Amino acid sequence: MKPAPFDYRRARSVADALGLLAELGGEAKVIAGGQSLMPMMAFRLARPSHLVDIGGLGELRGLWVDDDGLHIGALTTHHQVETCTDPAVLAGWPVLPASMSWIGHLPIRTLGTVGGSVAHGDALAEWCLLTTLLDAVLVAEGADGRREIPVADFFLGFFTTALLPDELLVEVRFPAPAPHAALTEYAERHGDYAIVSAAVSLDLVDGSLRGGRIALGGVADAPVRVPEAEALLTAGTTHPDELGGVFAAAADAAAAAVDPGDDQHGSADYRRSLVRTLVQRAGVQASVAARAVDDDRPAAVPAGARRRP
Ligand SMILES: Cc1cc2nc3c(=O)[nH]c(=O)nc-3n(C[C@H](O)[C@H](O)[C@H](O)COP(=O)(O)OP(=O)(O)OC[C@H]3O[C@@H](n4cnc5c(N)ncnc54)[C@H](O)[C@@H]3O)c2cc1C
Repeated sequence: MKPAPFDYRRARSVADALGLLAELGGEAKVIAGGQSLMPMMAFRLARPSHLVDIGGLGELRGLWVDDDGLHIGALTTHHQVETCTDPAVLAGWPVLPASMSWIGHLPIRTLGTVGGSVAHGDALAEWCLLTTLLDAVLVAEGADGRREIPVADFFLGFFTTALLPDELLVEVRFPAPAPHAALTEYAERHGDYAIVSAAVSLDLVDGSLRGGRIALGGVADAPVRVPEAEALLTAGTTHPDELGGVFAAAADAAAAAVDPGDDQHGSADYRRSLVRTLVQRAGVQASVAARAVDDDRPAAVPAGARRRP
């Protein structure tokens, strides 16, 4: 199908984009990479009367690290993150480049943007999972200036976020480094959205496991953290034999804690069993990545490696 008729405006700056959104009202939609919005328009699931194209705003592109953490401009593409060679990014947040291969196919990653993915708010999107895992801060700009939204207050439900219709998401910030983290998932075909995805970040102090975070996609209307399972990530050791048991227990707790729905992709029980497998796998991959970071040698199991459960 073809989209319903719409007018097209190209923004010259962030201020210009905000002015256009204010002028055109709630019927206007921002377009960034177009990789989610255009298919929705083609299927007539979205019928904006105007598109405000922000794709040319170079000021919203790029990654940089400073005392406030890692900043990613909203228009940075998935592929720019995937191919990032900045040593500060790779040392602090290796899970981000490593996770990009899970997003669709290369042409989609070349056009699709980090900000577009987060603003779209798909519970299965890798960026929604990563921002949830790593306590990201979403920076929005509107007529009244900038505001920072903690991720815990950002994803409100099914494709719904805290962004206002006349606001732009301008930056995604990851305040704290997460050198020991991994994301893994299961999809029916390469490049499909996941049925269930899991991400784990480990807090290792002097080689000892002191805690961690677990986030899941595909089990609720938005990505979720699982405190019941996170509470078990306290082995006080990084010995592989002991860690395997810790991740298995955390995976069981995560599977017991979630209440996924049934759909054409699988039953609730199937999703729970994917949670069990994927949390354990992400934990092992995070600890392997951790040892590789600590030992300054490549990980034996790449954090983004695709493997079927
Ligand atoms: C075949 C296919 C497979 C895909 N597979 C995956 C996958 O496996 N995992 C995954 O995560 N994604 C997948 N995607 C989606 C892709 O990652 C998109 O790039 C992403 O979801 C949206 O980014 P975009 O820049 O294309 O946003 P757009 O499509 O341009 O916009 C998406 C929404 O966000 C809004 N928006 C965009 N930027 C901003 C902003 N800066 N401020 C405020 N609102 C904004 C738009 O108004 C729109 O509502 C797939 C897409 C396709 C076509």
